[in-house]
Amino acid sequence: MNNENNTIHGIDVDLICNFFLNTERQGPGSPEATLKALSFIDNLTDQSMIADLGCGTGGQTMNLAQHTPGHITGIDFFPGFIDRFNTNAGKLNLQDRVKGIVGSMDNLHFREEELDLIWCEGAIYNIGFERGLNEWRKYLKTGGYIAVSESAWFTAERPAEIHNFWMEAYSEIDTIPNKVAQIQKAGYIPVATFILPETCWTEHYFAPLAKAREIFIHQHAGNKTVEELIKFQHYEEELYSKYKEFYGYVFFIAKKIEQ
Ligand code: SAH
Repeated sequence: MNNENNTIHGIDVDLICNFFLNTERQGPGSPEATLKALSFIDNLTDQSMIADLGCGTGGQTMNLAQHTPGHITGIDFFPGFIDRFNTNAGKLNLQDRVKGIVGSMDNLHFREEELDLIWCEGAIYNIGFERGLNEWRKYLKTGGYIAVSESAWFTAERPAEIHNFWMEAYSEIDTIPNKVAQIQKAGYIPVATFILPETCWTEHYFAPLAKAREIFIHQHAGNKTVEELIKFQHYEEELYSKYKEFYGYVFFIAKKIEQ
């Protein structure tokens, strides 16, 4: 989220966040993809300390919590998301080991080597992939894991329209091997990468967005900013269906090693 002037693609951040309160997820993904990523991680016990950075309302965090022992701290910039996160944790009776805190991923409160696992679905772009990998590494124990999902190019080249869209939105998007090389360079062993299936976009992201739009249009009839947001979402969906063989979301799982 490029929120230097409190806008994303020129649209007010608070409005966007309020919109996403009507969705379970705030980015492409699915419970199956979360569990697949988790299957590569082998060091967790009921003593484990886990952080979910840019957790949003906690869709993936709750999945994670239901399939892992240990304590999970969700961190997100937007207080409305954290309220919803903690309500969701309570509803699932996870409140003793799953807590959401308002905070920023570029100013974390963890102690060095405190964490066994850092999770981050569709959110590391807010700080940048390489910066996140480098800055967060100190909070992990040696042998601890990081699991992040991030946009990536599937091919070495792609049509100008989609290339230019991403260069403006997030110029750190790169090919999978380049991302893996960045992981290695930052002091981790790349353990696994997999491309999120199309359904993580269509069924688990775009379809719920369409439902949320219906609610939102109703609540904000005639609001120009809402119209802009909706127009942008339609454009994003159009681009995805047109160019999905060239880009998508990729899960990267890596293990911290001594350096
Ligand atoms: N992980 C969730 C949300 C992804 S959307 C999911 O996959 O559904 C990206 C999230 O990053 C949003 O919830 C946004 O509020 C949060 N975010 C943006 N900038 C942040 C920052 N600097 N620190 C922490 N969270 C941030």
